Order: sequence, then C-alpha cells, then structure tokens
Amino acid sequence: GKLGIALVGLGGYAGGQLAPALQQTEHCYLAGIVTGTPSKAIAWKEKYNLPDKNIYNYENYDSIKDNPDIDIIYVVLPNHMHAEYTVRGAKAGKHIICEKPMAITVAECDQMIAACKEAGKQLSIGYRLHFDPYNLEMKRLGQQKVYGDIKKISSGFSFVAQKGIWRLDKKIAGGGPLMDLGVYCLQAVMYTTGMEPVAVTAQTFPISDPDKFKDIEETLAWQMEMPNGLIAECRTSYSESSNFLKAEAEKGWFELQPAFNYSGLKGNTSGGQMDYPRLSQQAKQMDAFALSVKNKQQSIVPGEMGRRDVKIIEAIYEAMKTGKRVTV
Ligand code: NAD
Repeated sequence: GKLGIALVGLGGYAGGQLAPALQQTEHCYLAGIVTGTPSKAIAWKEKYNLPDKNIYNYENYDSIKDNPDIDIIYVVLPNHMHAEYTVRGAKAGKHIICEKPMAITVAECDQMIAACKEAGKQLSIGYRLHFDPYNLEMKRLGQQKVYGDIKKISSGFSFVAQKGIWRLDKKIAGGGPLMDLGVYCLQAVMYTTGMEPVAVTAQTFPISDPDKFKDIEETLAWQMEMPNGLIAECRTSYSESSNFLKAEAEKGWFELQPAFNYSGLKGNTSGGQMDYPRLSQQAKQMDAFALSVKNKQQSIVPGEMGRRDVKIIEAIYEAMKTGKRVTV
C-alpha cells in the first residue's frame, strides 16, 4: 500500500506544491498534517479529507509516534525549525523528509543524522531537482562528458524579496539568499560536474536598503574551486532576478534558463534543444523516497548530502566575512 506522509508546517510550499503533488503520487499519500493554526487544520481537513486523529499541532506533535497511518514526516517549516522537528520526528519513529536548506548549521545537521540513525529511520532532503528531467540531463551531459570536459560553469538564482518575510531574518533563515537560493546553484554545479569544491572565495556588495537587509547579505558572488582546477562562478541575490545554469565544455555547451523553477524549464545545448514532458518534480521526489523506505535503500538525496551543502555554505560565509580563500 501507499505510505502515509504528514506535512509539518502548512505554508506556501506545503500548500502550493507538496499537497497538490501528493494527489499524484503512486507510493505515498497525504495522511496527516501538523499545524499551529486551527483555521488551517479545518480548511485542510475538508480539502484533503483528513481524519481528525491525523491532525496534530506543535504541542502534541510527539504523540504522532502512536499513529500507524503516518510513516513519513515532511518538515516544511522555516529553516531554524528544521533540526528540532526532524529530531523529534525521528524519536517518534518516523522516516523524515526535511526541506532545504537542511538546517542552519553543520552541528544541527549532525544531530539530525544521528537522531535518524539511532531510530533506524531514513532521512532525505527536499532536493526536487534531482528528479527533474532537465536538471538530470545537465547531470548526464556533464558527468558523462558528452561534450568533453567542462571548461566553464556558472549559475545564478535570485529574486526580489519583499520586506518583512522571515527569509530576511537571520535568526530564522540562518542567512540570506545563499541559504535559500544559492543552495540551488552549488547543488547544480556539483551534479553537473560530478565534483565537490575543495575551496571557495566570495564577495558581497553594498546593501541598498539597510532596513531590509539588517543582518544578511543582499547580493553575493562566490567561486568554487573544483578538484581539477575548474572554477565555478555563482551568484545569488534578494534584489536581482536570475535563474540559470550554464556549462561550456571542450566540444559544446549546455544550459538551462530558467533552471530551478517548479515547471516551465528551458534547456538548450549546442546539439539542440531539450524537450521533456511536464511532470511534478515533487511527486517524483516523494515517490522516490517512499520507494527508498519500502526497499530499505538510501535516498539519492540523503541527509549526508544536505550536511555537505550546509558545510559548503558555512565555508562561503567565512570567505565572505574574511575575504580569504577558505578550504572546504
Ligand atoms: P512559508 O513562510 O510560506 O511557510 C512557513 C510555515 O511555517 C507557515 O505555515 C508558518 O505558519 C509556519 N511556522 C511555524 N512556526 C513558525 C515561525 N516561528 N516563524 C514563521 N513561520 C512559522 O515558507 P515556505 O516558503 O513554505 O518555506 C518553508 C520551508 O520550505 C523553508 O525551509 C524553505 O526553504 C522550503 N522551501 C523549499 C522549496 C523547494 O522548492 N524545495 C520551495 C519553497 C520553500
């Protein structure tokens, strides 16, 4: 049968993407919710036909351990809550999917991995693009060296952030656009090249609105030095607009623009355009995790990958602060 998923935190992503995707999944379904807002509990119960016994709040969350309908907990809360709700979920005996960024420090990532290991439960990160055909094609073209070795690679992801959102609050978000958007760029460079950076450098730019950007970076450029000497160029910002991944290799080029959206991606190569059918990245991602759980095989986007990326983010922030090259 299908595994039951409970979404924790019913904000924009849970309501706009994950719940609709769970109407299309084959190996899992929306079995429950955890919310601090009673009006949301009522609306979701009706919309998704949820039984009362599968609706939790943040106070009785731990008692989810007694509910056999829930196999998987999906943490979709603001970043600073990822660690706590993952650890408590694992202690309740559930498998976990946690949204990106995995947490706001490597130390938290370690606690999350340890808690899941101790409970004998799987941990996966909401890296949906590992299930998207356009990004998978970039990975194939790069890693299989279809156009030879990559000589240049760059990626950017930026949008204009509205004043007042939690993403601008360092205590909650853990950082600025690097935590939220830049993580896609560093992921993309790694799955396209099949390599992990050995060192990073970073430059930040003057803040345009000190009221809005109190303690986070507004715009950040960074470089990742790969083990073969290739330097990846990345950029993220909360006051610009960009969304791309470009690679130039010895015998050709390949790129996505937009690269990181939920749908409507466009891919082009020196050998012609990419053209893949529409699908739900999130449905594929959650089905793949349900199969990992059923088959007792590790997810292709495990907690260890989330930790690796938070470690790189910490190195980039150190490079930003010190102006120095920082080894990862
Ligand atoms: P959101 O602000 O729309 O939703 C956050 C939810 O958490 C809200 O329902 C809010 O009520 C609840 N919440 C509980 N305690 C809170 C607190 N102390 N402060 C603020 N909110 C609190 O955010 P979102 O866009 O849904 O993002 C949630 C998580 O999902 C983030 O970690 C984000 O990075 C991630 N996300 C991932 C993707 C993706 O494509 N994989 C897309 C969007 C968001």
